[in-house]
Amino acid sequence: MPNSMMRAVGVVPGKREVRLIEHEAPGIAAANQVKIRSLEVGVCGTDREICTFVYGSPPDGFEYLVLGHESLGEVIEVGAGVSSLKPGDLVVPSVRRPCPHANCLPCRADKQDFCFTGDFTERGIKMTHGFLTEYYLEEEKYLTYVPPELRDVAVLVEPLTVAEKGLAQVWEVQRRLPWIPPKTTPGQPGAGKNAVVLGAGPVGILGAMVLLVNGFKTCVYSRSKAPNPKSELVESLGATYLSAQVESVDQLAERIGNIDLVYEAVGTAKISYEVLRVLGLNGIYVFTGIPAPKPSLEIDADIIMRKLVLKNQVVLGTVNADRASFEGAIRDLGIFRKRWPVALRSLITGRYKIDQFRDLLLGRATGIKNVIALD
Ligand SMILES: [Zn+2]
Ligand SMILES: [Zn+2]
Repeated sequence: MPNSMMRAVGVVPGKREVRLIEHEAPGIAAANQVKIRSLEVGVCGTDREICTFVYGSPPDGFEYLVLGHESLGEVIEVGAGVSSLKPGDLVVPSVRRPCPHANCLPCRADKQDFCFTGDFTERGIKMTHGFLTEYYLEEEKYLTYVPPELRDVAVLVEPLTVAEKGLAQVWEVQRRLPWIPPKTTPGQPGAGKNAVVLGAGPVGILGAMVLLVNGFKTCVYSRSKAPNPKSELVESLGATYLSAQVESVDQLAERIGNIDLVYEAVGTAKISYEVLRVLGLNGIYVFTGIPAPKPSLEIDADIIMRKLVLKNQVVLGTVNADRASFEGAIRDLGIFRKRWPVALRSLITGRYKIDQFRDLLLGRATGIKNVIALD
């Protein structure tokens, strides 16, 4: 008996179309599968870029790719071998799926975020359908349970995993020196340290929240002049907001003192390398943005190289997230919800119906995090 059809939003790269798609409704076919009803799907710059057809490839045998990689869903059915989830549970799926190669150590160790071969797939991005549809299937191991009290904010989990994985690596890398004073308050390993977040989009603001709860003195450095809705939100968290139009990078450095950590969430190289020039002693710089290729630009390469060496600095790029980062993001969302209930909810600036996808994916980017609500 053929399955029924359901609505999805997808791209058809061969025809350069973004449209509503009649997508086959899934049915559980393996014991480890979970059937999920989509509740909310977040839209981000990656989705918007896929809609310009620079990347985003359909699965084999399909001319379209269903979009959506930031999902909150509700379990409606589980396979016979699923033990950790039951119908009614809220879940967030991860995005990347391992490559098939036996010699890829990370993929074989469930660390496909560090895949060596490049033959991984990503739901809603690369060769696997995404979550912007009414129902989808997922293997139990790629789902993380979400407590019901996080229902209204859990669509932020996936963008928050960027900071979770970034910071987990910061602690790993900085273990090579005595970076955390032995008397630091438990749970506040960043206390006494200065962090700069570049960019005040959702990844930047969520990153600032993670840094604040870890005790860092945090400054968000972004283009727009204050006051504006994002600067007000950032300051309500207890971070400082500085505008790059008002304060130069050198003024930023002078005001902050030793910059111990930079969390880049702006996605453009020019300002990012300017700030790399003022990274402090033993500082670590985490790049998360993926700029579109542009003409080459002039940077203070000798000064940057000199400081990287003389100041024992580390520059780290990070993509994707592992299971621990998803669990960390859900734990931290619970902390944010208690500490900043209003600010956290205000990160979600719009909820749209599925048939309003054009405005969200092709129109001008507005607000902070916009989501498509399917329920
Ligand atoms: Zn995204
Ligand atoms: Zn791999």
